[in-house]
Amino acid sequence: MQVDVAIIGAGPTGLMLAHELRLAGVSVAVLERSTERSSQSKALNLQPRTAEVLDMRGLLDSLLERSFGNIADGHFAALPEPLRYGGWRTRHDHQVGIAQTDTERALEAAVAEVVRRGRELTGLDQGPDEVTVQLADGEEVTARWLVAADGGRSTVRKLLGTPFDGRDARTCAVVADITLASGAETLPSEFRSMRAFTGTVETWTPLYPIGGGKYRIMLIGERQQRAAKDDPVTEEEIREGLAAVHGDQVTLGELLIGSRFTDANRQVRNYREGRVFYAGDAAHIHLPAGGQGLNLGVQDAVNLGWKLAAVLRGEAPETLLDSYHAERHPVGARVLQNTRAQGILIGLARDPDGTALRETFTTLMEFPEVNRYLAGMVSGLDIRYPSDCGHELAGQRLIDYDLADGGRTFERMRSGEWVALTAQEAPKLEAEAVLVRPDGYVHWAGERAGLEAALATRFGSVPVTT
Ligand SMILES: Cc1cc2nc3c(=O)[nH]c(=O)nc-3n(C[C@H](O)[C@H](O)[C@H](O)COP(=O)(O)OP(=O)(O)OC[C@H]3O[C@@H](n4cnc5c(N)ncnc54)[C@H](O)[C@@H]3O)c2cc1C
Repeated sequence: MQVDVAIIGAGPTGLMLAHELRLAGVSVAVLERSTERSSQSKALNLQPRTAEVLDMRGLLDSLLERSFGNIADGHFAALPEPLRYGGWRTRHDHQVGIAQTDTERALEAAVAEVVRRGRELTGLDQGPDEVTVQLADGEEVTARWLVAADGGRSTVRKLLGTPFDGRDARTCAVVADITLASGAETLPSEFRSMRAFTGTVETWTPLYPIGGGKYRIMLIGERQQRAAKDDPVTEEEIREGLAAVHGDQVTLGELLIGSRFTDANRQVRNYREGRVFYAGDAAHIHLPAGGQGLNLGVQDAVNLGWKLAAVLRGEAPETLLDSYHAERHPVGARVLQNTRAQGILIGLARDPDGTALRETFTTLMEFPEVNRYLAGMVSGLDIRYPSDCGHELAGQRLIDYDLADGGRTFERMRSGEWVALTAQEAPKLEAEAVLVRPDGYVHWAGERAGLEAALATRFGSVPVTT
């Protein structure tokens, strides 16, 4: 098989990237080793920025059909003061509650014709013009570019020996989806606020409804800390965790699926190795605190997609591809940093003096500016890419303005192409004109007369170094 881009892994990152490349008319294959989608309990949310990106592409509705409802706010380190998104001028000022399997199902439906399941990458060779992939079944796939979206234990990363800087896990916890035999009436019936998730810190054992009579539970007690990541999660362990907090009031019905996760914190040193790029968990792993990993991966994909397409279509020089590392590595590093901070604050929940620090932090989060800062960081709404254009809007995400013709700016982004917009069309635009990149970030803003020049030089003026 020969394609322009081979994507390894059909998780949310690989599927979103496939969507972006298909939209641009690039030939692509998503090679996924599993024959079926995993039902493992992982992400349960879309952060506001991810909802915006999916809205820009017209994909959001298919995910909302599978959502178990909106979650009005977010959390930082499971502190009781919720994060509020209202200060970020977004129509999606909440999280979308949706199980990761459902997010993947919706994304896969959009690119089904290019997803090849049961195809495991076992080897690869990079030449000057192409990458050759060896699959476990003996087939070879040749591609101009390869994207490793093969998750935290990335085979590509190991085969290439790419440095994965950071530290190993220091703590381990359990996540499981269960049904209850009794006690449901003592719990919130809907998961509408992170307040349902934060609870009493001394006995922090989140248990919240995720639709269809199912509950998500997390255990972070001493027993979990001692366990190895691959130790199976047992019904007895869940029962013990429930009893520690709820006594005999809430009891286990069925353990549907359970696994362990850790706070290992690592990031690939270079997001690009020749003709290979890393995206999603293949590029960064961290404690899943605040609900950021899936969202980060989807946005890696949306950043890389249009750049690969522009180079493959002969519109942009290959150097444009270096801006992927320049833009996304710092974003990933920031998530690694904030999840480390959250890990410490969560760990302090059971320490008598640590609770004093948590209370102090909670008080700080009541200040609107602090709350807005943390909400912007965890949601991805505050991302601002480096820009050579001096205008205040440059590098920031385009706001979904109402247009004079009755539409909205995000509807203009459906095609995945660059969009030029004037204040005549969008009366609330804070510039005479803007040029917006396919991923929804303002490339240039200024006077109407400068638009043609900005369009003509657009690829040459994306900074490629941090
Ligand atoms: C307990 C837990 C809770 C989480 N909660 C949240 C949350 O609330 N919000 C959030 O945003 N994120 C959350 N995350 C993180 C989120 O699940 C990950 O960040 C996300 O799955 C990353 O997507 P990905 O596509 O990059 O990688 P993955 O989802 O890991 O997908 C990688 C794919 O590559 C395939 N693959 C691997 N090796 C090969 C190979 N050699 N050949 C072919 N295919 C291969 C795998 O089978 C897999 O399908 C959570 C994670 C955990 C563990």
